[in-house]
Parts: sequence; structure tokens; C-alpha cells
Amino acid sequence: MLNLTGLALTPGAQRSWWLREALAHDPGASCPPLRGDVKADVVIVGGGFTGLWTAYFLTERAPHLGVVVLEQDICGGGPSGRNGGFASGWWDELGGLVTLYGPEPAVRACRAITASITSIGEFCSEHGVDAWYRRGGYMYAITAAAHERLRNEMVELVHEVGAPDELRALSPADVRARCASPAFGGGALMRDGASVQPARLVRGLRRVVLERGVQIHEGTAVTRLDGTTAATEHGSVKASHAVLAVNAWGIGWPQLNRRVVAWSSYIVLTAPAPEQLKEIGWTGGELISDFRTSLRYFRTTPDGRIAFGGGGGRARRSIDSMFTHDTRAVAETAEGFRLMFPSFADVPIEDAWGGPIDVSPTHLPAFGRAGASNVYYAMGYTGNGVAPTHLAGQVLADLITETDSDNLRLPMVNAQPRAFPPEPFRSFGAAVVRRAMIAKETAEERGRKPGFVVSQLARTPRRLGYLLGPD
Ligand SMILES: Cc1cc2nc3c(=O)[nH]c(=O)nc-3n(C[C@H](O)[C@H](O)[C@H](O)COP(=O)(O)OP(=O)(O)OC[C@H]3O[C@@H](n4cnc5c(N)ncnc54)[C@H](O)[C@@H]3O)c2cc1C
Repeated sequence: MLNLTGLALTPGAQRSWWLREALAHDPGASCPPLRGDVKADVVIVGGGFTGLWTAYFLTERAPHLGVVVLEQDICGGGPSGRNGGFASGWWDELGGLVTLYGPEPAVRACRAITASITSIGEFCSEHGVDAWYRRGGYMYAITAAAHERLRNEMVELVHEVGAPDELRALSPADVRARCASPAFGGGALMRDGASVQPARLVRGLRRVVLERGVQIHEGTAVTRLDGTTAATEHGSVKASHAVLAVNAWGIGWPQLNRRVVAWSSYIVLTAPAPEQLKEIGWTGGELISDFRTSLRYFRTTPDGRIAFGGGGGRARRSIDSMFTHDTRAVAETAEGFRLMFPSFADVPIEDAWGGPIDVSPTHLPAFGRAGASNVYYAMGYTGNGVAPTHLAGQVLADLITETDSDNLRLPMVNAQPRAFPPEPFRSFGAAVVRRAMIAKETAEERGRKPGFVVSQLARTPRRLGYLLGPD
């Protein structure tokens, strides 16, 4: 039985709980919509982590540059203020990284993400951003027999590349000692992992870049880029460089639309229950997820809540209300929570919200320059952008200011992954495959053999050469 007591039945009709909490803590200076035509050195479309970290690192590299950020909503109104707050390492992505780029570049990429996790914490301390940063590591929990192989492969691979300390196997007793759920078997622990209150981080970043002279116009949708001039309803920004930091909205931009599909993800949030957390021993602040492709991910908050994400979600051709108002996805997410945390049966779910995820063909992002133009992009985070956007911001700032750095030699820079098929095959295929993956993984979790058709459909992306879904 689902206990949806207290749950707003129109999820997403309000801002995420994170963002409401952050705005109550500090509403920030007003950033009115753009009116008129202005000039700048760099115009950034999108005021999430990617856009704001890029602005931040531009102010570090070249403080004299005129930087304008245009955001259709408010900064952090998109996924940057809606996500699970997992700033997590890439050692669990090593398989894909090695396949694409080889072991040495793969390890460099993982180390760069580790550095970003550390730097986010330092940024918070240095700038007085209280984003609840807590470095408790990332625990993977096995919830189906099929996941043991995945865990073993993951652990073997870090040994093979000479980084055994980064990720280690956990016995069922080890997992129980960190978080005692009857749904968990053994697991793995990745050292790299910090939780943040994502909306406090993105709004703190907004404050810092404003203090450094960056101009931000909220409530300002960019309707097109003419070269590097951004056109909006009531004005324009003529710049010498433009950055598309639009995440899943990239499906609507010709420069980016073959490189991502948009999938939804939802989060439910419980009331504070610090006593129940103590009873199950989950007091170490670990980020936790299972091994499903349709990942379930969960973390705690300082006041003893659980934020629990994933387990449902769908694919779509445009960013519409399905990403914010999907009661079925909320119910599926809540169901996953109740399954994993039966001792919280009496704890109400107080909030729920969703957002779009920009799934790339490789499960990894790419940062770079679009063709020969001065238009730059970072996208394809595939639901793992909190730490990588920090790296993306540095890369884009280095590219724009022509600053030579080790970051520019990372394999994701100007990577050209295989494109997704054109529409309508892309979004239709993504929707069908997504449901098949969920059906397959749910059957496995319940100890049933998935049906033949479902299994074959779930494996389609790998067979087509994409690094997505089960093999
Ligand atoms: C429910 C959910 C949970 C997640 N959990 C995690 C997690 O725990 N850990 C993790 O690492 N990642 C997670 N992610 C992914 C993470 O949130 C993103 O990868 C990250 O926020 C990307 O940042 P961004 O700045 O590129 O995108 P966004 O935050 O989406 O910012 C893009 C901005 O561009 C704006 N925009 C779009 N089009 C236009 C336009 N035409 N004109 C002006 N503005 C425009 C949008 O309004 C938006 O604010 C999650 C995502 C979701 C949806």
C-alpha cells in the first residue's frame, strides 16, 4: 500500500522542496528580464549549474569580460535546483569511459571529477554558501541477484586500472551496517561522493557571480541564436561567444538535438524521521543507489528526511508537463521508497517533484565547441551532472578564454559520440526502451525471469552501439 499522506497531488506544480527551502533561506537579488539590445563578450543561455559555473570560471580566468546569463525561469528552476544532490564520482562510469577512451584517459577523467567534488566543497566554504555539503561516500546496494555480476565487474575494473581504493565490494553485513534495508544484499562503496542541497548551491553560485559583475536576466527565454547573438522576446545580446547550457532543452536546438534524449526522473521527500534513520543505522550521510539502469537513488538531509528518486520516468519529444506533473511517476517512485524502507511506513511523504534528464548515447557528457562557430555547449550528463557541471564550467571557460589547461585534454572535450537517430524514431524508441528496461529490472528484483520481448527491447540500445541500458 502506498502511503501518500500529505503528498501534493500535483507534483511540480510548485518549485522543488529544495528550491523553496533555498529561496526562504535567501531569496537573492532581483534579476529582471532583458529589455532592449545589449552587447557582451559572452552570452550564456541557461542559468543552471553549467551556465553559472561557466560564468564563475570566466570571472576567474578573465575578470574584465562582460558576461550575460539568460534564464527562461529563475536560476535553479530547472534540474539544478531539482536534483538528488548527489555530487558523485565517476568510478562507476569506468566501464564506459575505458570502452570509449582507453584506461589512461578514463582514469584522468575520473580524477578530474574527484577534483570537482572537492572544489565544490571548497567553493562553499570560501564563499559562505551553506549548501549542506557532506562527503559521506556513495554506496551501491544490490537489490537483485543479477546485480552481483555488475558489482563484481565494477570492482574488478578499478583494480585493473590501478585505483583499488576508489571502489570496494561490501558484504551484506557491511551494507546493513551503513543502512539496514531488507531489500539490500551486498554492495559496493565508492569513496567519492558528497551530498549537497542543490538549490542552495545553485542559488549561492548565482549570488557569487552577481557579486563579480555577471549580468543575469531571469524570465528571459532565448528564442534563437543568430551566430553568437541571442534573440529574446524583448531584446537581444550581441556577443562574441555564446554558450548553450540548456541541458535537456537541447532537444529543441539544432546544434544539439541528435546528441540527447530527454527522460524524466522524480523524487519524493519524507517528513523528518531522524529516529527511524538511527534505527536503520543510516547516519553516515552516504549517498545510496541500487544497480538498476532505471536507477533508484536516495540520500538523507540534516533534519533526518530521505529524498528518494527514480524508479519510473518516461521519455518525450519536447520538455512539457510530463516532466513535472506525472502522478504515475510519483506513485512509482513512492512505491520504490516503501519497498526499500518498510520501517518508514508511518512516515509521511511530504513532497514530490520531477524534471528532465539529458541522456547521451554514451551515458557520459561532452563539452566543447559546436563546429567552427564560437558557440559552446556542455550536455549529456545523463542524470549525473552535479559534479560534472563544475568541470564543464572550467572547460568552457578555458576554451572561450583560450587558456591552456589539463582539462582541455580530457577525453570528453569535443568528443563526437555516435548520434541518436532522427525524430520520430528517437523519442519513440527511447520511450519504448525505457519502459522495457524498467519492466526487466522490476521482474529481476522480484525474482522473476523477465519476458523474452522485454529483455530484447531493453538490450536494444547496446546492440545499436549505444552505452545505455543492460547488456
Ligand atoms: C529529478 C532529478 C534528479 C537528479 N539527480 C541528480 C543527482 O543526484 N546527481 C547528479 O549529479 N545529477 C542529478 N540530476 C541531473 C542534474 O540535475 C543535471 O545534470 C544538472 O543540473 C545539469 O545542469 P545544467 O545547468 O546543465 O542544466 P539545468 O539545471 O537544466 O539548467 C538549464 C537551464 O536552461 C534553461 N533554459 C532552457 N532553455 C532555455 C532558453 N531557450 N532560454 C533561456 N533559458 C533556457 C532552463 O530553464 C534551465 O534552468 C538529476 C536530475 C533530475 C531531473
